[in-house]
Amino acid sequence: MTIKERLHSILATLPEGVSLVAVSKFHPAERIEEAYNAGQRIFGESRPQEMAAKYPLLPKDIEWMMIGHLQTNKVKMIAPFVKMIASVDSERLIEEIEKQAAKNNRTIDILIEVHVADELTKSGWSKEELDAYLATGALERMEHVRVRGVMTIATNTDDESIVRRDFQRIKDIFEELKPRFDSAFDTLSIGMSDDYPIALEYGSTMVRIGTAIFGAREY
Ligand SMILES: *Cc1c(COP(=O)(O)O)cnc(C)c1O
Repeated sequence: MTIKERLHSILATLPEGVSLVAVSKFHPAERIEEAYNAGQRIFGESRPQEMAAKYPLLPKDIEWMMIGHLQTNKVKMIAPFVKMIASVDSERLIEEIEKQAAKNNRTIDILIEVHVADELTKSGWSKEELDAYLATGALERMEHVRVRGVMTIATNTDDESIVRRDFQRIKDIFEELKPRFDSAFDTLSIGMSDDYPIALEYGSTMVRIGTAIFGAREY
């Protein structure tokens, strides 16, 4: 199947209101262009250098999303153009995004990455850390950061019950946090190539799909 065919067969399974992030990390700009020509506009990258290198090569109406762990000293590489940073996992990172967004006269959307999976290696806030941070009120003082919702990566396992448990946890956290934010807080980003049909059952509003669109990555 071509990228266009894969893209359209995935889109056909997404309920209205669910957005698709085409995860293009490790794939060259030509493949992104192919997806763009098939109508796709939102692309996810996991490394700031790679995103910054692709940005000038591609159409300017692409919405670039950072989905991988971001070091604070790399925020400035993408701050002039990135639409959303979906992997916000620390207070320092939020402060740096605020600073760089202000410098560029922009507002940058963020998703708070929450850790619900079994693997300790995964990044993201624990619910306790997040509650402690939110209680400081620091987030409300940010003027160039717009909190759009939460994201997580489920445990990497064949045991579907564990994946479902993770999605239920993040859904509960999303619902609990929602009243604390304004109406821009509307995004529950869960679901990747292997688990997005399950994520949709838990109310995902934004799936992040790479392999099922572009094929396997060569690292
Ligand atoms: C790579 C990645 C994806 C896409 O994974 P696929 O299995 O290729 O669909 C989604 N989300 C994040 C955070 C990723 O790093």
